[in-house]
Amino acid sequence: RAKEKGRNDFQIFNSDMKSVSINRLRLENELRRALVNEEFVLYYQPQVDIGSGRIVGVEALIRWNHPDKGMVMPNHFIPLAEESGLIVPIGEWVLRAACKQNKTWQSEGYAPIPISVNLSMRQFFQHNLKGKISHVLEQTELDPRYLELEITESMTMDVDHAIQSLLELKELGVNVSIDDFGTGYSSLYYLKKFPIDKLKIDRSFVRDIMVDPNDAAIVATIIAMTHHLNLKVIAEGVETEDQLKFLYQNRCNEVQGYWFSPPVDRLELEHMLRHGISVAAASSE
Ligand code: C2E
Ligand code: MG
Ligand code: MG
Ligand code: MG
Repeated sequence: RAKEKGRNDFQIFNSDMKSVSINRLRLENELRRALVNEEFVLYYQPQVDIGSGRIVGVEALIRWNHPDKGMVMPNHFIPLAEESGLIVPIGEWVLRAACKQNKTWQSEGYAPIPISVNLSMRQFFQHNLKGKISHVLEQTELDPRYLELEITESMTMDVDHAIQSLLELKELGVNVSIDDFGTGYSSLYYLKKFPIDKLKIDRSFVRDIMVDPNDAAIVATIIAMTHHLNLKVIAEGVETEDQLKFLYQNRCNEVQGYWFSPPVDRLELEHMLRHGISVAAASSE
């Protein structure tokens, strides 16, 4: 009996696995097609100087304009793209599109600001990452100081590789930030050894700063630490004026979040670049 039951379980497990892998295969093929048909688009979220309310950067965030499903968010396809390796060509597309757009804005007379691009694990561990980025910068004629690369703490676990790669990226003249800071492996010992420019405080800490004294303490401490380490700091996921005030009082440099703007398409971003963002900055009262 036990044997029989075991076999049944196995079959159920097996057919589940089959449908999961068929779905994955379908999605993978669709992602391939999406690359060829140029179905990916970039959205842009402003990064705001907390004192002046000025837009001092934008983060490029990918969306998939799917022919049937409409706009598909990155959480629905980035993980599979990462597993299948498709993230490498997709990431290259993002990098090129972001650099090209930023160069275009500069040519059109917008005040130059850096554009941030999220690097995936695979990209960060890719052979000759420096050469590839350098090639894109040359092709698009973007000054490297207007490109910022976002990596996550998990990519720095191989400390030697991280330091080596980051040094190479710094040689190019681009900026590097650590995204979702506080959620991953973080050794403060190594943090000071990494040639990075900025920490992005993860929005999970920012979310509860007004209600959870522990989160408030963590955020205040991260900000103070960045000042001691001579790093810039930006808080992600700022949604309320109270959060903004807290961050201002604790000397956070920059903020990004729905309070100012969600990620928007090119035209909406250009509107904000021309007219500014119509909400109060922290120092306005
Ligand atoms: P991330 O890099 O941490 O990007 C910030 C995410 O937080 C974005 O989600 C943004 O829309 C969202 N967000 C911004 N402000 C707020 C806020 O005030 N409240 C809340 N609740 N959310 C806010 P999105 O665009 O869905 O991207 C999710 C993640 O997907 C990104 O997190 C990043 O890890 C990944 N991703 C996006 N684009 C790319 C890409 O081009 N390449 C790679 N490798 N990953 C990407
Ligand atoms: Mg990011
Ligand atoms: Mg982030
Ligand atoms: Mg995040």
